[in-house]
Amino acid sequence: MDETNEKQVSSQKKANSNGNDKVKVGSGKPDFVRAMVAEDMKTGKWGGRVHTRFPPEPNGYLHIGHAKSICLNFGIAAEFGGKCNLRFDDTNPVKEEEEYIRSIIEDVKWLGFDWGDRLCFGSDYFEQMYEWAEQLVKAGKAYVCDLNAEETREYRGTLTRPGEESPYRNRSVEENLDLFRRMRGGEFSDGSRTLRAKIDMASDNLNMRDPVMYRILHAAHPRTGDKWCIYPMYDWAHGLEDSIEGVTHSICTLEFENHRPLYDWFLDELGVYHPQQIEFARLNLSYTVMSKRKLLQLVEEGYVKGWDDPRLPTISGMRRRGYSPASIRNFCGRIGVNKFNSTVDIALLEHCVREDLNKSSPRVMSVLRPLKVIIDNYPQGQVEELKAINNPEDASAGMRKVPFFRELYIEQGDFMEEPPKKFYRLAPGREVRLRYAYYITCTEAIKDADGNIAELHCTYDPATRGGDSPDGRKVKATLHWVSAAHALPAEVWLYEHLFTKENPDDAAEGEDFKSNLNRNSLEVLTGCKVEPSLEGAAPLSRYQFERMGYFCVDPDSLEKRGLIFNRTATLRDTWAKIQKQQQSR
Ligand code: ATP
Ligand code: MG
Repeated sequence: MDETNEKQVSSQKKANSNGNDKVKVGSGKPDFVRAMVAEDMKTGKWGGRVHTRFPPEPNGYLHIGHAKSICLNFGIAAEFGGKCNLRFDDTNPVKEEEEYIRSIIEDVKWLGFDWGDRLCFGSDYFEQMYEWAEQLVKAGKAYVCDLNAEETREYRGTLTRPGEESPYRNRSVEENLDLFRRMRGGEFSDGSRTLRAKIDMASDNLNMRDPVMYRILHAAHPRTGDKWCIYPMYDWAHGLEDSIEGVTHSICTLEFENHRPLYDWFLDELGVYHPQQIEFARLNLSYTVMSKRKLLQLVEEGYVKGWDDPRLPTISGMRRRGYSPASIRNFCGRIGVNKFNSTVDIALLEHCVREDLNKSSPRVMSVLRPLKVIIDNYPQGQVEELKAINNPEDASAGMRKVPFFRELYIEQGDFMEEPPKKFYRLAPGREVRLRYAYYITCTEAIKDADGNIAELHCTYDPATRGGDSPDGRKVKATLHWVSAAHALPAEVWLYEHLFTKENPDDAAEGEDFKSNLNRNSLEVLTGCKVEPSLEGAAPLSRYQFERMGYFCVDPDSLEKRGLIFNRTATLRDTWAKIQKQQQSR
């Protein structure tokens, strides 16, 4: 391996590491959550401790919204010298699967975060939760109710109609305890009874109207098997999990603000350790759906190729697309954390991705839609190794050599037989620069039987080697190219937004978000020609194809079907453009 190639390999290694060596989150200015934690540190509220958790329900893959929560929870723990648990909130056996647990672990790790030995499962606390439930029953604070789901809903009332007390509300402690134990024992059928907290059916807050704590569900759980046939409801379980783990700041999204009184009520009535629940606004992105239910639908109904389809906002989809963990963390830092729901422009995410790739990705020349060029005055059989810059943003990335040959490929779009005024690229009789190579002039365009351009004949000027003219002659365009004899065949997958509308849920009457799917979200290009230095490129390694965008080697590449690249992003940065326009106003 000569020196230039060595340098390229090392620059690629650098580019393709996760950038996780120094994980940094946040823009530096504290958000309201960090301000709250800082204040608690000052007053010594938690004895100088900071302990957060990221609590996904293993019922789907993680998405960019989860990344916001991960960066917030793990970020705060790191910044304040605290700890953050990864906790699976696995209290619903029906929708939860091992596959989701595995993917979540992989994704949080890949994002660059470490929970140490604190991988926790809500289901590990089922026994303790049950004991606490009995404690509330014994204290007359919980009762077994025989209303079915429909009746329970009816009795609960609405925002404008007060609730009605269940006819079973005033059972004796003895009867409640007996029934609750028999619920656990498996005597009753699914849905026939619940355990409910005895709070206040007249409360303005619907969550406080005797919420259900346990339901009967004869279903095997991935971790506890058949041990349980009653399962705790989210509101009951979540605070207990936080309490057991000694969490200080229980950070969740805004829709749980109305649940906080209940979170507090359970912990106060039990008289156990009581973390502080704090709510922040969830992330919404334009042209994106983020609900796991909708993502599942897209996956199961085959609208995309799986949870890691590069068009999805899932972490695994973004990884496959070529987004780096650093760019996702950077994005999460830039959007900040606040109390008001809003929608972030997806162009900002793409901007963060480009910013990172611009600095880190090696440049190569690849032709996506090839047009053959024959340099008639170039010696038959000759090959020249021309020097090319690996990354103009990173001098340490060095140079590499690209082979120049009599037959080349350029992009079909870089030639026009009858160019309009502002088209400066190749045309009959016109001279352009081939990057790192020579000036060439088109002498003839050969057409096939259908009248399409089949190949071009050109001449080159040997005095312009390297791409500069000694006589100062100017050309208006520089094209990328590959040697026809040396280029590798490849398949390239181009992506557009998955939805055509900024808000995919804005659908016509009787339609749903799927009616806004973009039918052009994937374009598969076969017969592409990529620079020979890409031979053996590792899955998930990232490159800039000069003038064509950023690309990432698909993991299905190579062994199965030859090189496949996903386009991570185009070079057009709409976010930077918007910023510029705003500044100039
Ligand atoms: P969904 O409602 O789509 O099922 P979820 O919020 O129920 O999503 P969980 O697995 O419970 O999914 O989420 C784990 C954590 O991630 C929670 O603390 C939740 O608040 C947070 N989270 C989920 N979606 C977002 C989002 N879009 N923005 C910020 N945080 C989010
Ligand atoms: Mg949830």
